[in-house]
Amino acid sequence: MGSIADTTTLANGVKMPWLGLGVFKVADGPQVENCVRWALEIGYRHIDTAAIYGNERGVGRAVRDSGIPREQIFITTKVWNDAVRAGRDAVLRAFDQSLQKLGLDYVDLYLIHWPVKEKCLEAWEAVQQIYLQRRARAIGVSNFLVHHLDDLRRHSGTTPMVDQVEFHPRVLQRDLIAYCRQHGIQLESWAPLMQGEIFKIPLINELAGKYGKTAAQIALRWLIQHQVVAIPKSVHRERIAENAAIFDFELSEEDMTRIDALDRNQRVGTHPDHFDF
Ligand code: NDP
Repeated sequence: MGSIADTTTLANGVKMPWLGLGVFKVADGPQVENCVRWALEIGYRHIDTAAIYGNERGVGRAVRDSGIPREQIFITTKVWNDAVRAGRDAVLRAFDQSLQKLGLDYVDLYLIHWPVKEKCLEAWEAVQQIYLQRRARAIGVSNFLVHHLDDLRRHSGTTPMVDQVEFHPRVLQRDLIAYCRQHGIQLESWAPLMQGEIFKIPLINELAGKYGKTAAQIALRWLIQHQVVAIPKSVHRERIAENAAIFDFELSEEDMTRIDALDRNQRVGTHPDHFDF
C-alpha cells in the first residue's frame, strides 16, 4: 500500500483502488465536476456516486473530460430503494438510467444501496444479470450487516464482491470484518470521517500530532491498514489532496489498537435494520 493508485483485488480479479472520492451531497453540475476533476488531477482513480445523489451526469462529464483512459478509472454507482422495491425490471431500468446519465457503457461496481426487506433477492438477480452482460465489472451491496449478507448468500447461492457500510473508529464491526474476510467480500467504508465528527475525537487529534499528519489522514490510514476501502468526500481541492496523502506513513500496531478501542458501535447514519426511506 504505497501509493494512491494501489488497489485491492476483488473476488473476480477486478482491481479496486483503496482510496476513492465520495460525492454524496455534492451538487450536480460545476460543483461535482470540479471535485471529480481535482481528484483525478491529484491522482484519484476511483469515484463513488449513486442514483440517489443526483450527480451522475456531472461525474460522467468530468470523467470523460479528463482525457484519462476510461479503463484507468473505477466508477461505482448504486441502485436506489424505490427501484429495488419495484422489482427486477425496475432495477434493470434504473441501471440503464444511471449508465445513460454517466454517459458510460459500463460501470466498475454496481451496488444495491440498502437491504430492502424481502426484495433484495430479486434485485440481486437483476444485478447479477447486469454483471453477466458485462455492463458492471463487479457487483455488490451496501449497508448489509452479517445477517443480510448471510440471507442473500444462502438464498441466491452467490456472494457479493463488495459491501459498502458505515465504518469508522466509532463503529468497528469486528463481526463484519471477520465475515467478509471469510467469504472474500471487500469491505468499503462510507462516512470514513464520520461526516466531520472524527475531528472531535481527542485520540485522533493526538495521533495527528504524533505522526505529523492531520486527523483526517489518521482516520483514513486506520481504514486502509484494516484493509477497508475508503471514499472520503470533500468539495475542497486542498482537502481532496490531503485525504489522499496517506500512503507515506504507517500507524504502529499499538496505535491501531488504541484507535480500535474507540469503538462504541455508534453511527452517524441510519442503522441498516431501521431505515424507512
Ligand atoms: P465523510 O465521512 O467522507 O465526511 C465528509 C465531511 O467531512 C464533509 O463535511 C467534508 O467537508 C468534511 N471533510 C472531508 N475531508 C476533510 C478534511 N481533510 N478536513 C476537514 N474536513 C473534511 O462523509 P460522507 O457521508 O460523505 O461519506 C463518504 C462517501 O461515502 C459519500 O460521499 C458517499 O460517496 C458514500 N456514502 C455512502 C452511503 C451509503 O449508504 N452507501 C451513505 C453515505 C455516504 P467539505 O466537503 O466541506 O470539505
